Amino acid sequence: MSGRAIVVIDDDEAIRDACRQTLGREAEYRVSVAEDGPSGIEEVKRAGADLALVDLKLPGMDGMEVLAAIAKACPEVVCVVITGYPTIASAVEAMKRGAYDFLPKPFTPDELRVVVKRALDKGRLEAETRALWQERAAMQREFVNLAAHELRAPLNAVQQFADAILAGTAGELNPKQREVIGRMRERVAGLRGVVDHWLDINRLQSGRLSAEMKPIRLGALVEEAADVLGPAARARRIRVNVEGWEEDALVVGDRQCLKEMVINLLDNGIKYNKPGGEVTLKLSRPVHGKVKLEVTDTGVGIPEHEIPFVFEEFFRGEACKGSGVDGTGLGLTLVGKIVQLHQGAIGVSSRVGEGSVFTVDLPVADQQRRSS
Ligand code: ADP
Repeated sequence: MSGRAIVVIDDDEAIRDACRQTLGREAEYRVSVAEDGPSGIEEVKRAGADLALVDLKLPGMDGMEVLAAIAKACPEVVCVVITGYPTIASAVEAMKRGAYDFLPKPFTPDELRVVVKRALDKGRLEAETRALWQERAAMQREFVNLAAHELRAPLNAVQQFADAILAGTAGELNPKQREVIGRMRERVAGLRGVVDHWLDINRLQSGRLSAEMKPIRLGALVEEAADVLGPAARARRIRVNVEGWEEDALVVGDRQCLKEMVINLLDNGIKYNKPGGEVTLKLSRPVHGKVKLEVTDTGVGIPEHEIPFVFEEFFRGEACKGSGVDGTGLGLTLVGKIVQLHQGAIGVSSRVGEGSVFTVDLPVADQQRRSS
């Protein structure tokens, strides 16, 4: 269907006819009408409307409610209010509910045409802007993905060469050379971390995860993550405690991803801790079909104003400044996506100077849901 779809929602038959006649003369407009709110909303959806003209005084569901319902169900539809009793207060209220313009009754055919054209132009511009943003985001993602793929192999190679040199395969190293190559290896490993995280995030976004979903014992993953990061924790004099639910929670998920999630949370708890501090991984018995994993640290904490941003791509906060801690700003982005893909929820609470708690709630597998 071509043309712009306009829906007139008014209980006054004369207004519906006048709008249909005036706008129906324009070849590019498809006009349909409804005489009350519920049928108007249905018609907006059915016709794939670009514009809705909404009378404020409707029987039953009033115009303000209709505006709010359209804004919720079809946010891209531009709404114009028509009313016989225009007041500043009702205009302001209508704008708040998402109306773009106001047309007081009685109106002339010309006034109607002008308002309709302006509203449709606005809708078109908004749609174009949305499409451009989406295209830009897709191109950015594609570019970074390509770059990341291209970087992975050479970075691996450089890291392996550095390992080989440090192992003495190219001859004895003096302490200065050892230090320089060691630092080079560290920087390359950091860059590889960025590339790997980025590719993981993209893999999750492309939905390639679901094929690997199966029941997983979360407690086992927590133990494994604690083992993997044991050396890092010892090097920083951080104690890692694991407190588990003895029967072990079963969640349906991608094992590798869930392990990555725990590792990233634990890694942060270790990295942003103070020497002699602690990180506790605690799994609670499922309640209402959800199992809770809490990762609590006694570290530097997160300032309140940073909390809304910690899951954003490339965000690095106060905690990493001056601490010399390496990172990518992608770890929590990855964690957030993994939790989302497992239909879970993640929350964080923190006090600067005292520590942070990251809480992950995941749905338990069906066989345990019945007993929880
Ligand atoms: P990275 O650790 O690589 O910087 P993340 O995405 O894992 O990236 O974390 C983003 C930011 O959130 C970190 O730079 C840090 O400022 C803050 N942060 C995350 N976890 C903690 C924590 N346990 N304690 C204090 N700050 C944290």
